[in-house]
Amino acid sequence: MQPADVEVSPLELMSAILQGKLDVGKLLLWASKAVESPRLMQAAVLVGCFAAFILFWKKTGNKEPTPVVAAATPAQKRPKRVKSNVDSADEAKTKVTLFIGSQTGTAERFAKTLADEANARYKKAVFKVVELDDYAFENHEYEEKLKKESLALFFLATYGDGEPTDNAARFYKWFCEANERNVHLENLQYAVFGLGSTQYQLYNKIGIDVDRILAQQGAKRILPLGLGNDEQYIEDDFVAWKDQVWPELDKLLCSEEDLAGLSTDYVAVIPEYRTVFLERGDAPQMERKPSLANGNSVYDLRNPCRVSVAVRRELHTPLSDRSCTHLEFDISGTGLKYETGDHVGVFSENTPETVEEAARLLGYPEDTYFSLHAEKEDGTPLSGSSIAPPFPTPCTLRDALAKYADVLSSPKKPALLALAAHASEPTEAERLKFLASPAGKDEYNQWIVSSQRTILEVMSEFPSVKPPLGVFFAAIAPRLQPRYYSISSSSRASPSRIHVTCSLVYETTPTGRIHRGVCSTWMKNATPQEETQECSQAPVFVRQSNFRLPADTSVPIIMIGPGTGLAPFRGFLQERLALKEAGAELGPALFFFGCRNRKLDYIYEEELDMFVKAGALSELIVAFSREGPSKEYVQHKLSQKAAQVWSIISQGGYIYVCGDAKGMARDVHKVIHTIAQEQGSLEGSKVEAYVKSLQMEGRYLRDVW
Ligand code: FAD
Repeated sequence: MQPADVEVSPLELMSAILQGKLDVGKLLLWASKAVESPRLMQAAVLVGCFAAFILFWKKTGNKEPTPVVAAATPAQKRPKRVKSNVDSADEAKTKVTLFIGSQTGTAERFAKTLADEANARYKKAVFKVVELDDYAFENHEYEEKLKKESLALFFLATYGDGEPTDNAARFYKWFCEANERNVHLENLQYAVFGLGSTQYQLYNKIGIDVDRILAQQGAKRILPLGLGNDEQYIEDDFVAWKDQVWPELDKLLCSEEDLAGLSTDYVAVIPEYRTVFLERGDAPQMERKPSLANGNSVYDLRNPCRVSVAVRRELHTPLSDRSCTHLEFDISGTGLKYETGDHVGVFSENTPETVEEAARLLGYPEDTYFSLHAEKEDGTPLSGSSIAPPFPTPCTLRDALAKYADVLSSPKKPALLALAAHASEPTEAERLKFLASPAGKDEYNQWIVSSQRTILEVMSEFPSVKPPLGVFFAAIAPRLQPRYYSISSSSRASPSRIHVTCSLVYETTPTGRIHRGVCSTWMKNATPQEETQECSQAPVFVRQSNFRLPADTSVPIIMIGPGTGLAPFRGFLQERLALKEAGAELGPALFFFGCRNRKLDYIYEEELDMFVKAGALSELIVAFSREGPSKEYVQHKLSQKAAQVWSIISQGGYIYVCGDAKGMARDVHKVIHTIAQEQGSLEGSKVEAYVKSLQMEGRYLRDVW
């Protein structure tokens, strides 16, 4: 029998399957006839495979839901309610996306906190946190996917002086160009919370830009842009903004009946990992091997490259009461690359003393061997979205505390609630809850923030608090973040080494505790390869910067960098020397350096003299702040050289500033304005416009922190 003899052909059957209109009766009739014919049997197998594929595709394929926004009913005088969209995971629930651009984890933490509270509050909506650069693989997908969003909250940190975070950089670039294409986001309702610091000139630039462009593209802002200032207390800024979010979300996501039943209480969700205690050797195959390369072709924040410390030396003289470390990471054979002017991110470790104290306060031996899991035993996710995937385990408590727990930071309010939940003494629990409550705001600011009390200090003042490890690592100690350093070597002169110039943080806090900076202390104590085979190692990655020498080597440059602000200029000077040796013609270069006293902290003095002698540096101008009768800083030296500085700028030269953002960079900025005004005979708003144009052209670059 020929296939044509049956009532339906295989092609018709496949078409019916595709349209989801298959008549089971016809299929059975067709299958029964197929048994009688080998050719028909082959066709049946084909149809079967096709049906299986379609079923599989429908289950797992592109499921991006298409939210529908219902028209507002004027009588209700409520904003547009967002109608449910169907997602196979959260059927009939409205999807709300929380987009994050986070560098140090604060934006991520805020978004996840809000997502957890919202998921507990709204039964008909599902809140999901998404990193902006993970949202779309290709840029064109941003447009397609954003158009399908109906309600989104953006948590966007500005990194340094107006830059996007690494995980939002691609989106930001694409979105800033959106005006040229017109993205049409009329279906989207949104709110933005920006995280920045007023110590930078371009305060909260990314949040401000994205909020503006979203509105320009037709999206509807549901509440004014929130701005968090890390210079003050950013947690309070977030809480104040969050308080405004709830009424808006209530209007958008709840019917009148839902609203009546809504709790107005703050819903605190305390995340906790599932912890499995193991005997040493239970899972040796899972333990990380200390290898140099990590197997990834691209190294970044998430995939750092483990490298050895090749060289470490002190740069201050023995007379100095401060310390500055010169460190070289050996990157040979790792595939890690950098360019002169880039930053290196370094994951360091807490000191053994800090680890010992933390383990004692937790009440576990340091060699406790355990694993952490964000899923239940059956593989389903534990709770809420605020539970980040755990760090690699199994490991010892010693390792976990050294490498992953930021125990020297001050506890955030949710951490105080988690501590309270594990206090056996009721008065301690009450006091911790009070500190985390709106009523305890002033006391929290005074007793925790202004006093710079660490998590360890707080735990030691509440001795009945004994959180389980799963709670401690999920809800109390934030993840230890990498520290960034301006690379102080040239990739041309030193391709297999990344040099760092790091000043030690060693400060007495208001409680009398000495705060030893986590990473700067680790660097100071690092054991270099040149001393022992058992040298110190750290996971590192390179972060690209825009701090680059002019492409044309004959363009004149001015570098201003006191203290460790010298770092990238050491790289620039090494680069210029290498270029000169290769036959390049070098333009003039001035370097304004500053330190306290030539007998204490004149770092790299011999090298700087060598650069002058070799012709890589035309003039070295040093301000010693503690040598003469009055304090003299780089900005004073810059003023004294106003005519020369103006001549270089007006010839198309570049100005570079590196170091302290708060004091030095601000003062230098003012002096540049004064020079433009006095030397360039510019007046009023023209001065401001001129300096702005230098920045826009990339001729006035700042690497400040
Ligand atoms: P941390 O432990 O992080 O402490 C740093 C500061 O935080 C302290 O000074 C203190 O004010 C405060 N702090 C945090 N927790 C507490 C607490 N519990 N109690 C009291 N105070 C606390 N630095 C350099 O030396 N050289 C460079 O070339 C350099 N380049 C940089 C480039 C960039 C782009 C950036 C962003 C920063 C750069 N830094 C550089 C700074 C560097 O990243 C680190 O911030 C610095 O080394 C201190 O880190 P730490 O871990 O030692 O100190």
